[in-house]
Amino acid sequence: MKLLSIHKLEIKKNDRVFIRCDFNVPLNDEGEIADDRRIRAALATIRYCLGKGAKVILASHLGRPKAGVFDKKFSLKVIQKRVGELLKKDVIMPQNFLIDDETINMSQNLQHNQVLLLENLRFNPGETKNDSTFAKQLSNLAKFYINDAFGVCHREHASVYALPMLYSNDKKAAGLLLKREVSFFDKILKNPTKPYIAIIGGSKVSSKLNVLLSLLNKVDKLIIGGGMAFTFLKALGYEIGDSLVEENLIKDAKNIIEEAKNKNVKFYLPVDVVIANKFEENALTQYVPIQEITPKWIGLDIAPATLTIFKEAIRDAQTIFWNGPMGVFEMEKFSKGSISLSHTLAKSSATTIVGGGDTGEVVSNAGDIDNMTFVSTGGGAALELLEGKILPGIKAVSL
Ligand code: AMP
Repeated sequence: MKLLSIHKLEIKKNDRVFIRCDFNVPLNDEGEIADDRRIRAALATIRYCLGKGAKVILASHLGRPKAGVFDKKFSLKVIQKRVGELLKKDVIMPQNFLIDDETINMSQNLQHNQVLLLENLRFNPGETKNDSTFAKQLSNLAKFYINDAFGVCHREHASVYALPMLYSNDKKAAGLLLKREVSFFDKILKNPTKPYIAIIGGSKVSSKLNVLLSLLNKVDKLIIGGGMAFTFLKALGYEIGDSLVEENLIKDAKNIIEEAKNKNVKFYLPVDVVIANKFEENALTQYVPIQEITPKWIGLDIAPATLTIFKEAIRDAQTIFWNGPMGVFEMEKFSKGSISLSHTLAKSSATTIVGGGDTGEVVSNAGDIDNMTFVSTGGGAALELLEGKILPGIKAVSL
């Protein structure tokens, strides 16, 4: 499979181009954008099309709103403002989330200093259902289709799959961001420079079980941290107090440890953790070896001895893939393990690829973004690519 190139599209002045972006950015409690990396990552493709004299129509989802109704909390109004500031253009939006006459008129009458942004695609019930009627309505808006929304390529949704399937190969392409994402993951999937080390954290084994199994066929070392480590620790017989655990995955955890041994993959778990008496920022905390986790206390971060061992383990790496925080990084008290690991990767001479919204946020909070080789805008999509799956959104813009 080869991605269709944006450079091969014969975009002429005044042609209308639909760009599926991933503007699904984190918002703070006030509803403001907490991290605009996904918006900035889409600018290259938008500017490329504007540079060709095209009229640009942008579309994205934001969060998981209830379909069929407008909900201010999930409106792309907040995105409209930021895209306008970054592009220094007038970004206009239709009143309605439906693709009605107003939207069609706006797309047809776009002026050169303007860009059209559609309302949250997921307000339309057809989006997540990959509905062909909704896709047809969207296709009436533009002559060309570009997918630059890597983060959503694993979803068979109308704007990601049904819509591009309506375009011929000379009228659709992968955007510049999507191309960059795919080329990095292709490299670590097919031909990683060794030693290749994966660091997987985050909350649950269940959401990453398949990727853990497929990574065992590729990596030299597998490092586990975050909440998911406790299911492994329990599988090894440790007392884990009230730490996060998936009882139904203890067998799978044992199997992964066994498979790592069989495949000669060096396998690392935390040796000490930060425990707390409650899941709160103001909790009492203690640093304990994993042998000494107090019943009823909760493990919420990795501790210094673990960091030393993880740092030592990645010292000889040539390629590092990191997905999932090492602790509850949202609370400052439990973010130190993740931040410190981020600094270590940033200083490493290995190719460092970071995937997942949360991990990207950790790296951004740590001020390390510019010192990583690549920080992906996708979480689930990146993991599915690494499992070796063909993602619908990528398939739809490939030869
Ligand atoms: P994921 O989406 O699976 O990558 O998980 C990210 C989430 O894992 C973040 O919200 C973290 O707060 C959470 N997390 C990391 N470590 C722990 C832990 N020890 N206990 C509970 N949650 C955790």
